[in-house]
Amino acid sequence: MGAISTGLQDCRKRIEQACRLANRQPESVRLLAVSKTFPATAVREAHQAGQRLFGESYLQEALPKLAGLADLDLEWHFIGPIQGNKTRSIAEHFGWVHSVDRFRIAQRLAEARPVERPPLNVCIQVNVSGEASKHGTPLANALALAREIVTLPGLRLRGFMCIPLATDDPDKQRQPFRQLRELFDQARAAGIQVDTLSMGMSGDLEAAILEGATIVRVGTAIFGKRDYT
Ligand SMILES: *Cc1c(COP(=O)(O)O)cnc(C)c1O
Repeated sequence: MGAISTGLQDCRKRIEQACRLANRQPESVRLLAVSKTFPATAVREAHQAGQRLFGESYLQEALPKLAGLADLDLEWHFIGPIQGNKTRSIAEHFGWVHSVDRFRIAQRLAEARPVERPPLNVCIQVNVSGEASKHGTPLANALALAREIVTLPGLRLRGFMCIPLATDDPDKQRQPFRQLRELFDQARAAGIQVDTLSMGMSGDLEAAILEGATIVRVGTAIFGKRDYT
C-alpha cells in the first residue's frame, strides 16, 4: 500500500476515534484532503484510496491541477486567502470556498458564479483569538457578515472556518474551536441556516471534532511534509 493511502487510512482512524470520544457519528465529519504543493498524481492516488474532497490554497497552482483531474468526480474546496482579481476563477472552478472574510469578496464570488451551476458553498473565515493567519473577519463581525452573505444569490452560506495558532496542548487547542462553535450556535439561534464548522488540521483534528467540527482539513498527515521551494 502506498504512503498516501496509508496516511488516509490513519487519518480516517483518528477521525473515528475522536468521534467515539465525542459521542458523534463518524459520518458527521467530512475529511477534506489538502493537496496544495502536491502534484495531480498524489490526488489521483488519494482518489483511488476512496478520497473525494480536496482543498487547495493557491489558485495558480490549483487551476492546472484541477484541469488535469477533470476526468475524476472530485469536490474541490478553495481554502486560501482570496484576492479580488481571483474571484471569477474561484467561482467558476470550485464547489466550496472556506475563506470568505469580507462582504465585497462574497459579492464578487456571487456575481461570478455561473448561473447554470448550483450555488457556491461558502464559509466565513473567522479570526478567533490568536489566529495564526492574519486573514479572517473578527469574531465580533462574523454574525453581521453572515446576515449580509445570506442575501446573495449564487452563494449558499454553509458556516464558519478558522485556523488557530498551532499548539500541542489539547486544552489550548479546544478553546478557539469552542469559540467558533459558539458563534455557529448563535447563528443558528438567529435563524441563519448554517451546517458547517470547518476546523481542525493534521495536528489538532481531535480537539476540533470534540468541539463539533463537521469538516477537518488535513494535508501533512495524508500527503507528508510540504516543500515550498
Ligand atoms: C495547508 C492548510 C491546511 C492543512 O494543514 P496540515 O497541517 O498540513 O494538515 C488546512 N487548512 C488550511 C487553510 C491550510 O492552508
